[in-house]
Amino acid sequence: MAIVHFPLKLVSRRMVAPTVAHLSFLRDDGLPLDYIPGQFIQVHFAYADGTPAKRSYSLATIHDHALGPGEAVEIAVSYVTGGAATALFEGLPEGGQVTASGPYGRFCLMPNDANRRYLLIGTGTGITPYRAMLPQLAQLMETRAVEIVLLQGARNPDELLYGDEFRAFADAHPGFRYLPCLSRELPPEGSLHAHADVRHGYVQNALAEFEPNAESDIAYLCGNPNMVDACFEALKDAGLPVPQIRREKYVSNK
Ligand SMILES: Cc1cc2nc3c(=O)[nH]c(=O)nc-3n(C[C@H](O)[C@H](O)[C@H](O)COP(=O)(O)OP(=O)(O)OC[C@H]3O[C@@H](n4cnc5c(N)ncnc54)[C@H](O)[C@@H]3O)c2cc1C
Repeated sequence: MAIVHFPLKLVSRRMVAPTVAHLSFLRDDGLPLDYIPGQFIQVHFAYADGTPAKRSYSLATIHDHALGPGEAVEIAVSYVTGGAATALFEGLPEGGQVTASGPYGRFCLMPNDANRRYLLIGTGTGITPYRAMLPQLAQLMETRAVEIVLLQGARNPDELLYGDEFRAFADAHPGFRYLPCLSRELPPEGSLHAHADVRHGYVQNALAEFEPNAESDIAYLCGNPNMVDACFEALKDAGLPVPQIRREKYVSNK
């Protein structure tokens, strides 16, 4: 099937971490973007010499899909030095357009899952699929009392993109634990993220505390490929069969 390209118009931009921009677009051809939380889009552009290029971005939009497809197309873009797509997004004014395609991917919650617990793990912008999943997760906690543990890896509290939203969601849902795992710097006392569920170190080290096991758990791993591999090995060692470990690696297209 031919890939359909569509225009996205930038509506707003805000920084959600020192080098991560949350970009909110509207699909500009009058059609909704019908996607499942966890999927990603591709943005198409050209290098300076005219060679076509594309980059993938997970959809971050929080939308109740029971109401039908939504209008907003939100992504979190990590700005990297010398990055081609980084330059495109940094230079894009509000009202400006990019060309996209999708949605793609199967990094989604599965309707037939009967597990007792989800272990959701992400580093950097690899946390965005879980933001998009929040309405589905709220529904799963209500309908089948599933427990959810979200481990977010970052170096310091400033890099916890959407951390305020996850903290508020955890406070409102007793079945949802939110654990920021900070490798370098812990939150100062009295600050937003100063909480008993903060851990010092990498997400893969915090995992053991939850005693992952094949009977109850399905795990999702997203973001930095090294983190995904380390957690995959730790979960396999704990006895989780491979189909119960779902992965999305943010590999560079270059
Ligand atoms: C399925 C999928 C989903 C993705 N979702 C997201 C997402 O939601 N948000 C997001 O920001 N990215 C995401 N990525 C990565 C994204 O597609 C780009 O690779 C990234 O934005 C860098 O693109 P760029 O053109 O700016 O840099 P490039 O021109 O590709 O690279 C420039 C330089 O930066 C280095 N580099 C590339 N990425 C990183 C990085 N993350 N950290 C440090 N150095 C890097 C490259 O090795 C190169 O040296 C995803 C990738 C995949 C495969």
